[in-house]
Amino acid sequence: MSRFFSKKYASLVPYVPGEQPRDRKYVKLNTNESPFPPSPAVFNAVLEEAGMLQLYSDPDCSILINKLSEVYGVAPERLIATNGSDEALEFAFMAFCDGEHPIAFPDITYGFYPVFAEKNGIPYEEIPLNDDLTVNVEDYIGINKNIVIANPNAPTGIALPLSDIERIVASNPDNVVIIDEAYVDFGGESAVKLTEKYDNLLVVQTFSKSRSLAGARLGFAIGSPELIADMHTLRYSTNPYNVNRMTCAAGYAALTENGYYMQNAETIKRTRAYTAAEIEKRGFSVTDSKANFLFVRHGKISGEKLYLGLKEHGVLVRHFKKERIKDYCRITVGTAMEMKTLLDKTDMILGGEK
Ligand SMILES: *Cc1c(COP(=O)(O)O)cnc(C)c1O
Repeated sequence: MSRFFSKKYASLVPYVPGEQPRDRKYVKLNTNESPFPPSPAVFNAVLEEAGMLQLYSDPDCSILINKLSEVYGVAPERLIATNGSDEALEFAFMAFCDGEHPIAFPDITYGFYPVFAEKNGIPYEEIPLNDDLTVNVEDYIGINKNIVIANPNAPTGIALPLSDIERIVASNPDNVVIIDEAYVDFGGESAVKLTEKYDNLLVVQTFSKSRSLAGARLGFAIGSPELIADMHTLRYSTNPYNVNRMTCAAGYAALTENGYYMQNAETIKRTRAYTAAEIEKRGFSVTDSKANFLFVRHGKISGEKLYLGLKEHGVLVRHFKKERIKDYCRITVGTAMEMKTLLDKTDMILGGEK
């Protein structure tokens, strides 16, 4: 730390992204990316925009917003595009939370939430998940705090039914409820349609997981025109060109070929079911994941040992040191072939490296 670093950040513990090592080629199952490349229209769109990079991007992302409006059936003034959904989440924290409006979220969830809160001086409450790692919905009923819930949750993959989300939103009418739907395309129930009914509901989604654009950084949020206007105020006060030209075009192009991505999501769901069954046969317990990853635990091998063993064999998965989940590994669902490699290497590790 330099002697110039602001005291207000001195104790900030940054978010730790999954490792992206370059030392060798890994089967990469640690950051929930899509194993499938972007669709053809995305390649063309990016190339075409590259020839116009001397010009700033459209700060309103109009072509993208209009296409999102069509695909999701919501008016453009209910939409905002962001540099990854992480940015949408942080704008929401900044816009709606402060000392008088603290935020609550599960103790086991996306690791960025406490970081956004710490960084922006927002008080927060971490509400423990049930022993089976499900969200206890009653804990959130009428708590009179802002709330953020990933649905499906990460890293558990467990989803709440829409009726529970609605109860939480309806019981906290004077607080903003943010539903992070990063994984919704893999089997969750989206709350988008409730955004017309509740002016305190903000739904955040991303192109990083189901739409194969993690490297492009594109997310979006849907809410009442008033909530969205507040987020635009933060956006224009941070970076009006937050979504670059190539990403805006890539996102639009991806939506014109949405069927390809939704088919890929179906493939992932089938591969997830197959892999879960196979891994259970090997003595693991697996949470009921509605996301593009599995959260697994084995009575005879620690999460860290499995993670390290797999890494040695060229397969990267994610292990979290957090006490409650340190026995687990989170494994991204890749192609069927990648899953076969995972299972083979797991067998070697469990069999004592035969
Ligand atoms: C991956 C992820 C995000 C954000 O991803 P972006 O790449 O910034 O869009 C947000 N929330 C959860 C729960 C995630 O897993």
